Amino acid sequence: MADSNRQLANGVSTVAPPAPTTYTPRYIDIGINLADPIFRGRYHGKSRHPDDLQGVVGRAVEVGCTKLIVTGSSFKSSMDALKLAKEFPGTVFSTAGIHPCSSSIFSTSHHKHHDESQSEDGGEPEHTPACGPDPSQPIPDGDGVDPARSDKIIADLAELITQARTSAVSPHLVAFGEFGLDYDRLHYCSKEVQQHSFSAQLRLAASLSPQLPLFLHSRAAHGDFVCLLKDAFGPRLERLERGGVVHSFTGTAGEMRELMDLGLYIGVNGCSFKTAENCGVVREIELSRLMLETDGPWCEVRPSHEGWKYLVEWEAKAKAAAAAAAQAAEAAAAAAPAATTGDEDGAVEQPQKRNWKEWKRQQQQVKKNQKKEPEVPERFKTVKKERWEEGAMVRGRNEPCTIERIAKIVAGIKGVSLEEVCEAAWANTVKVFGVEP
Ligand SMILES: [Zn+2]
Repeated sequence: MADSNRQLANGVSTVAPPAPTTYTPRYIDIGINLADPIFRGRYHGKSRHPDDLQGVVGRAVEVGCTKLIVTGSSFKSSMDALKLAKEFPGTVFSTAGIHPCSSSIFSTSHHKHHDESQSEDGGEPEHTPACGPDPSQPIPDGDGVDPARSDKIIADLAELITQARTSAVSPHLVAFGEFGLDYDRLHYCSKEVQQHSFSAQLRLAASLSPQLPLFLHSRAAHGDFVCLLKDAFGPRLERLERGGVVHSFTGTAGEMRELMDLGLYIGVNGCSFKTAENCGVVREIELSRLMLETDGPWCEVRPSHEGWKYLVEWEAKAKAAAAAAAQAAEAAAAAAPAATTGDEDGAVEQPQKRNWKEWKRQQQQVKKNQKKEPEVPERFKTVKKERWEEGAMVRGRNEPCTIERIAKIVAGIKGVSLEEVCEAAWANTVKVFGVEP
């Protein structure tokens, strides 16, 4: 009892989450681009290492991320996501929609069929667009909508969704999307075409019977985004039957409140922790509206992000708690009389003098280890893609097992336990997407 009390005392503070308890976390990654060829070892159209998708899914399950909602962000990736859902039944689920950055297929300047792989052309377009802000030269309006092409795309998307819903044994397709508006990246698709793509897909989503929940993307476009949603589903979104999530949220607190007031959920990933302002917004998300995601292979949490410091804090406390517990266990094993004093800083406590030499040796070992270990250790070995090896993560390729970092940072920012964060996000996700039988 004394040991666990000390562990709690070391872990609890007013700004940081409690130290890890016996709770086993469970996660659902609501936004993971597993259909991206990068998870098959293909980078920019070139094969760099063996297909390690099984390993990626295995690592996710190992950390407790037992459900993955794979994002469909183009016609082809929606079909590929559905195939993955069939390959990993009960673990992988899929969405179907056309991302704003993939919406140039609606325009007069597009010359390929919308379900073609674009990899033969030089590679990069086959990858899913990153959801992190990446401003560049915008395409000016004038790259207009091709009405005949648009009708065909929407009809084909409707067909894809209908087939997925009627032919599947289990409900693999769980959401409509990813779709929305992204005014940070008008270089992929003009504003006019993005708005057309969003509206046309919203009309289709509203016409489905029964409807699907929505998986939405909104970046630097809040006013138009809300306006188009209301056009399709009513001023209070009263005709939106299954709700939806605005993923990869990086907007303001006011924008977030408006979305929550409309009954929508907020998806958080590494992009949501970049600045102190971002973290301030995350603090305001109601747990009853929270969902967690990695948006891999993009949006990893980086040391330069404001949110990183919550991870450092978490790891320091976990380490101190583990060291204190080990020390106490040793003392108990030696059956020495209890003559120790607590240490509020979480450092290893000093035992009686007769154990002085051993204690000093351990302290030196701890210091040595501290030098070696990074502030936030990798749970799995991580290597450069050029040095790929079986079982290792690839540096710079975010994957769903890192979702535990997202949950720890949210817990740190909000000053609540990891359990509260995980259980709230799990319940919200199951409620909206129905991913649990
Ligand atoms: Zn997105």
